[in-house]
Amino acid sequence: MKKTDVMGVAFDDMTMDEAADRALALAKDGAGAYVVTPNPELVLMAQKDSAYAKTLAGAALTLADGIGIIYAAKLLKRPLTGRVPGIDFAGALMERLAGSGLKLYLLGAKPGVAERAAANLAERYPGLDICGTRDGYFQEDGPVIRDIRKKEADVVFVCLGAPKQERWMERNGAAAGAHLLVGLGGSLDVFAGTVQRAPGWMQKAGLEWLYRLAKQPSRIGRMAKLPGFLVKAVFWKDKGGEVA
Ligand code: UDP
Repeated sequence: MKKTDVMGVAFDDMTMDEAADRALALAKDGAGAYVVTPNPELVLMAQKDSAYAKTLAGAALTLADGIGIIYAAKLLKRPLTGRVPGIDFAGALMERLAGSGLKLYLLGAKPGVAERAAANLAERYPGLDICGTRDGYFQEDGPVIRDIRKKEADVVFVCLGAPKQERWMERNGAAAGAHLLVGLGGSLDVFAGTVQRAPGWMQKAGLEWLYRLAKQPSRIGRMAKLPGFLVKAVFWKDKGGEVA
């Protein structure tokens, strides 16, 4: 499958539907395969931390979530088809999972959030089989892995925030017996209704980051890295775009 290198991280150049179709195939026959959606902050982290770069490289699907990645790819003269926001991708995947007989497990966020998300999602996607939930504030991985195994989950949404969730999926995905794991940051908070998404026009205009910043001004430190990231893209030198 064609991958496009954006400053050291190989992204899958896919539409939302292509990504969801591929994920459904992995949900059936993957063995601990995982999906990541790196934003500029994570690409910068991977440049400094080779272990984390390896974690990202081990993903079966690497989707361009943030508008910053799309801009950087343009600056590198290898534009990507478009954004595939993790939360929308999750929706497209759940549409496909509903009625398929495949089981979904929700892991992450504060106690009670995954349960509320499960109730909302079951209503929104009739036929979706949510086999278990668990909050993301656990001390040991063992009991969580055993629970996912016991519930025979095919797909796990791992919502522990980055970079924790990517490391968790790499380390524990296969042991949990799941076919596919998807790292989805704060998505369970949105599905539960605790956090609102930006209005549609802002999403389309690529301004979701601005909305999140207005709601959570503490994110400024993280977002302040974006301009530097784009400047870095202008001066980036590498051996070309396609890596596989
Ligand atoms: N979280 C968690 N366990 C932790 C740390 C964070 O379950 O040890 C959850 C947190 O409650 C939130 C999500 O992970 O639901 C991170 O959300 P954020 O929007 O910050 O995601 P990011 O932008 O880092 O992907």
